Amino acid sequence: MPQSHKRILEQLRQLVGTSSISSTDPRWDQGNRAVIDLLAGWLADMGFAVEIQTVTPRGDKANLIATLGSGSGGLVLAGHTDTVPFDEGRWRSDPLALTERDNRLYGLGSADMKGFFPLAMAAASAFSATSLKQPLILLATADEESSMQGARQLAAAGRPKGRAAIIGEPTSLVPVRMHKGIMMEAVRVTGRAGHSSNPELGNNALEGMHAVIGDLLAYRQQLAARYSNDFFKVAFPTLNLGCIHGGDSPNRICGQAELHFDLRMTPGGDNATVRAEIAQRMKILAGQHDLDIELRSLVSDIGPFEQGAQSELVLLAEKLTGHRAEAVAFATEAPFLQQLGMETIVMGPGSIDRAHQPDEYLELDQIQPCISLLQQCIRHYCL
Ligand SMILES: [Zn+2]
Repeated sequence: MPQSHKRILEQLRQLVGTSSISSTDPRWDQGNRAVIDLLAGWLADMGFAVEIQTVTPRGDKANLIATLGSGSGGLVLAGHTDTVPFDEGRWRSDPLALTERDNRLYGLGSADMKGFFPLAMAAASAFSATSLKQPLILLATADEESSMQGARQLAAAGRPKGRAAIIGEPTSLVPVRMHKGIMMEAVRVTGRAGHSSNPELGNNALEGMHAVIGDLLAYRQQLAARYSNDFFKVAFPTLNLGCIHGGDSPNRICGQAELHFDLRMTPGGDNATVRAEIAQRMKILAGQHDLDIELRSLVSDIGPFEQGAQSELVLLAEKLTGHRAEAVAFATEAPFLQQLGMETIVMGPGSIDRAHQPDEYLELDQIQPCISLLQQCIRHYCL
């Protein structure tokens, strides 16, 4: 085994061994600071200027911006440092102990996506600050798996600024230039409870909700007609009715009901327009039924993402990999990096099918191709 591979395995062993789960459930949620500090130490040793941007007041969650070389432009290699929670009983080996078997590296985050960092550092090790005409920036973020707060904060701060960004999420090294957005919304219908024997004693929120659901399904049809996109396997925006709660008893007029749904918008549309249209429709229904109807977001939304087919980065990645750029069914930090003015794609080692699963692994045979691919991208943008 070459020396560089030994270093990769040792670094990944430490990254996987440093638990950094992020979750909207506080029972699971941890900081990522220890992972950031590990990366910062290694990158500083390599000659990178490292900057840690805290994401929480306590500083237990943070982003890392590590820069080799100086000047404007350059290439950003980006990844998130957090993982999803795990179900230990369903793993064959300790999820926090990197385990090599069957030409695979098993461990939590091995594919999604702690594995990307040692490979990006191995790629970078072929370059020195003085050899670069434009900077190479390694970006490591917090809370991608929960709130995307790390990426949101970077976008708000206007950093980092490169010419192009590659997010190393597991795509089996296939370039990805599109994904849908995600919004999670709640509709609360409030009427008036009363004895069921006489409808005039109240105003039934469940009957109002029936109208709300009918209207949302009609709107879903309109969205499909307006925003279909054959690039996706599911070629239209989806709106899923996820859960509903309301009422308490069969002999009481239901006073309040709440519906939660998610909406995954295709590129070409935008979340703010969709939300405004739904709000307008709810307002009309509220008037018709004399109900109070409130629309609110359950989480901060993620926009749909598209990088143009003819952009420099997409064409470069297609040429280097021999793959046409694809669309994927998961959301990433790409919209936030793109917002900073960078051409952005998603392309990294390992398979998304292995992510968020027991026995997550990174195939050993992804390592060298990934390093070579990243080095060619660095040469293109930084030399
Ligand atoms: Zn990921």
